Amino acid sequence: MLDKVLFQIGSFEVTVLVVVLVALLIVLLVAAMAFRQNYIIQVRLSRLMDAESAKHNHEGFVTLLRKRKKKILKNSRQVSPAIVIFSLDNLGGVYVGYKNQRLLMRTISDVFTEGLKKQEFVTRIDFSKFGLIVTDRNREELKEFILKCIERLNEIEFPNYGYYTFDVTCAVYEAVPLENPKDEVALAIQTLKYAVVKDGNIYYYSQDVLDKVNKLEEINASKESAMEEGCIIPYVQPKVDFKTGKVVGGEVLVRWINDDGSIKYFPDEFVPLFESNGYIRQIDLKMFEAACIILQNAKNTGHDIVVSTNFSKLTLNSLRKIDQLLEITTKYGVNPSSIEIEITESEFVSTNQAFTASILRLRQAGFRIAMDDFGKDYSSLSLLTENRFDTIKVDKFFFENSLATDKEKNIAKNIINLLSSVGCKICLEGIETLTCLDYLATVNRQVLLQGYYFSKPIPEVKFEQFLDTIF
Ligand code: C2E
Ligand code: CA
Ligand code: CA
Repeated sequence: MLDKVLFQIGSFEVTVLVVVLVALLIVLLVAAMAFRQNYIIQVRLSRLMDAESAKHNHEGFVTLLRKRKKKILKNSRQVSPAIVIFSLDNLGGVYVGYKNQRLLMRTISDVFTEGLKKQEFVTRIDFSKFGLIVTDRNREELKEFILKCIERLNEIEFPNYGYYTFDVTCAVYEAVPLENPKDEVALAIQTLKYAVVKDGNIYYYSQDVLDKVNKLEEINASKESAMEEGCIIPYVQPKVDFKTGKVVGGEVLVRWINDDGSIKYFPDEFVPLFESNGYIRQIDLKMFEAACIILQNAKNTGHDIVVSTNFSKLTLNSLRKIDQLLEITTKYGVNPSSIEIEITESEFVSTNQAFTASILRLRQAGFRIAMDDFGKDYSSLSLLTENRFDTIKVDKFFFENSLATDKEKNIAKNIINLLSSVGCKICLEGIETLTCLDYLATVNRQVLLQGYYFSKPIPEVKFEQFLDTIF
């Protein structure tokens, strides 16, 4: 049968068939390639887009700035372009249901789009931050534009929600050269944190921001070598028993020193950075060991003291087992009950399971726990009914002004009286003057005192000499 058919088809027809088949194959091939190319473009594009707001994301912002650099600069005839970052700090507070989330983000991002000129555009660089490039607007004009955006934000009536008042902080990086958009966007974001030049809630980029960022990078890059070379060391601040005037312990506070022993960085300069990148765990463990060494030396000279050390949330949360701590106490022949671990009140307030479990393990092993900075941030008096700490350290904020006014005196008195009923030790921090001390003597002497009046934090060797002092 097939033979017959083939016999009937001439060579011309065969050629035509082959040509048609080949053409079909080519068309299919081209279509497949185009489809693939389109797919690649889509994937690339989606990497640069924020699906909720349908605007470019952080990477998309940088890419667009690179791509449109010439046009943006050309459009900035009188004034160089500026990067503007709007940070909606309480954005998480609006909840309109997950189905309306896209609409919410589109409505918000449209607020920034209104009034934009050619070559200006808006992007969403993370959950709560929107990034804009603006051209040819001087500081006054830009301020007007920013305030208008904030005004419009607060006029939105959200479906199923109503009106909302946004906490907006705005960073402005003026005269941005667009030479390296990736770094420039990063610096504009850092301006939200480190700006020195501020006009209300509008923060302006200046050299200070770059200096601060460079300093943090330098700190970060040199942390390991500083640790190895012994430049990260403990200082100790004595704690005095108000009743007896004796030094009964001390708090270990980390210092970063230069080779000549002078202070290079105070903890406020590096602790927050190391809390964000995890290195604080190494520091906390090092200071914990330092506390053990101090206790061992004190024991050798016949002093029975309690030494405290600070643990960040991160250190606590990663304390799956406390064997490592117990190995250190055993190494130095220290009883865990001589060590107090200071944890800030705010950590107690925002508890999570890992935190609670770590506190429990530490206490079961015999370590003391102190709630640090009581009253400094948002306080939760319900914590006082709990039984998770042995000491409460009242924050230095209350004594900053040496209890100069009746109001301050009354607040201090009532806090101390309140805490006395909790049944744990009380330590008052930041005692700087005799005036302050005189008043506190009339309130309650069953407390520990710590502050510059007695001593600033001092090197370990000096602290050991302090142990026989009676105030
Ligand atoms: P903190 O734990 O509340 O430590 C008390 C801070 O108050 C210390 O600052 C101390 O020098 C200062 N201070 C003490 N007495 C007075 C006073 O009479 N007046 C005033 N104005 N200040 C006083 P420092 O050493 O700079 O430490 C700052 C913070 O850094 C500490 O606050 C603590 O939160 C953190 N930190 C220090 N060392 C460590 C550490 O090893 N690990 C962790 N995680 N954090 C640490
Ligand atoms: Ca502390
Ligand atoms: Ca404190």
